Amino acid sequence: MTNQIEVLNPATGLSIGSVHNSSIAECLQAVDAAHDAFESWKNTAPRVRAEILRKAFEIMIAEQEDLARTITREMGKVLSDARAEVAYAAEFFRWFSEEAVRIEGDYRRAPSGANWLLVSRQPVGVALLATPWNFPAAMATRKIGPALAAGCTVVLKPAHDTPLTALAIANILQRAGVPSGVVNVVVADPPGPAVEAMLNSGKVRKLSFTGSTRVGSLLLAQAAERVINCSMELGGNAPLIVCADADIDVAVEGAMLAKMRNGGAACTAANRFYIHDNVLSEFTEKFTARMAALKLGDGLDPSTTLGPLVSRAQQQRVSDAVAGAVSRGAKVLTGGAVSTEPAFGYQATVLSNVSPHDEILQDEIFGPVAALVSYSDEQEMLSLANNVDHGLVGYVFTKDAARGMRIAEKLETGMVGFNRGLVSDPAAPFGGVKASGIGREGGHEGLLAFLETKYVAGNW
Ligand code: NAD
Repeated sequence: MTNQIEVLNPATGLSIGSVHNSSIAECLQAVDAAHDAFESWKNTAPRVRAEILRKAFEIMIAEQEDLARTITREMGKVLSDARAEVAYAAEFFRWFSEEAVRIEGDYRRAPSGANWLLVSRQPVGVALLATPWNFPAAMATRKIGPALAAGCTVVLKPAHDTPLTALAIANILQRAGVPSGVVNVVVADPPGPAVEAMLNSGKVRKLSFTGSTRVGSLLLAQAAERVINCSMELGGNAPLIVCADADIDVAVEGAMLAKMRNGGAACTAANRFYIHDNVLSEFTEKFTARMAALKLGDGLDPSTTLGPLVSRAQQQRVSDAVAGAVSRGAKVLTGGAVSTEPAFGYQATVLSNVSPHDEILQDEIFGPVAALVSYSDEQEMLSLANNVDHGLVGYVFTKDAARGMRIAEKLETGMVGFNRGLVSDPAAPFGGVKASGIGREGGHEGLLAFLETKYVAGNW
């Protein structure tokens, strides 16, 4: 293990700097600092915690452009997506600044009438937050915001591909007035031993993880040893359904957003497109034209509309997935090749003639590739849509509200976009079912994830 981590710009493949690689001892010191700060932060007035989060929101918005550039440089997404991410990320600070003063309890009469039941909420304790590279700002604030609002102290462990954004957010929080020890950041490569040591420290009471299902299930097993409270936001494999009566222009617009936000590297990315036979040719033609018109390049160039993938390994993964589907009979309508400008580029790709059971539909592609499958029977389509391990989000496009709601109810997902390609909203409970996770982030539910219920049985 070296004590520096090089950060690469995916557009050039070149280093843009390095950060300190925390040793296990340093990670444990961060946990100690969070543990020492907990009592005082927990007892800080909710209004004070709220005002600090509100200030962090304001600083983040004032510094949106700088932060957006940092995101693009270390992660590759186009600048317009990075700006949108900063605005979205900052909103979690604003939303949870408003939630901090709304931590409720209640007071009930026991059914026997003999005594009272007093129910209140307390912060769960030191929270370990582990986040992925694809939304380096928003995945951090979606956890830090509710944790701080609830009165928890945190250790944030960002993905080592994108540490600069995490460090910039910690700096904003410090300037907003977060006391020392309340927010700690450790960057560790390899991450496994560091996270395991922190979970085993005996001081961490909450693990909030966003990342792949593979790593999430590994961490659930580790957390089980000490019965640590876990929230898991894991992988997706979203179906996007276009019904025969859909407004095709609305569906194409929604599909572009659902597929191409973040260059396809989103857990919410539409992965499997189920298009009704009657509208297949119109949808395919219009959607393919939009995908073909995207300009692949360096995300910092204002004319670029599709940035590179995060790493060479991810570029290879996407390329292999497309080659596999093509070898099994899929047809490339546009794209279908890697690009070296930008360094880790992959062309926006549309595949037709994909068999409903093809391997490319079984797991998230995490790149700018759309696989189109036609359908004629709604029941059959729904059983295909539900026949995967994941269940984060699904999208349905139809002008018939009853049909849309029927499909939304039947989709085995935690979220549904109805005539919309975007579901993310700080005020909404974001999360999945099945292998896509446990718990919800955002909304009031996001705050509850960092609170324990305390019940006092009393006679008075
Ligand atoms: P990842 O699972 O490889 O990494 C996520 C985090 O876990 C990083 O901080 C990483 O350093 C750490 N990690 C990796 N291996 C570990 C180990 N053995 N022990 C402990 N920690 C470890 O995921 P990624 O490649 O960074 O992100 C992409 C994945 O994240 C995709 O599957 C995507 O769907 C998912 N994701 C989910 C959501 C959601 O809200 N559901 C949001 C964004 C991304």
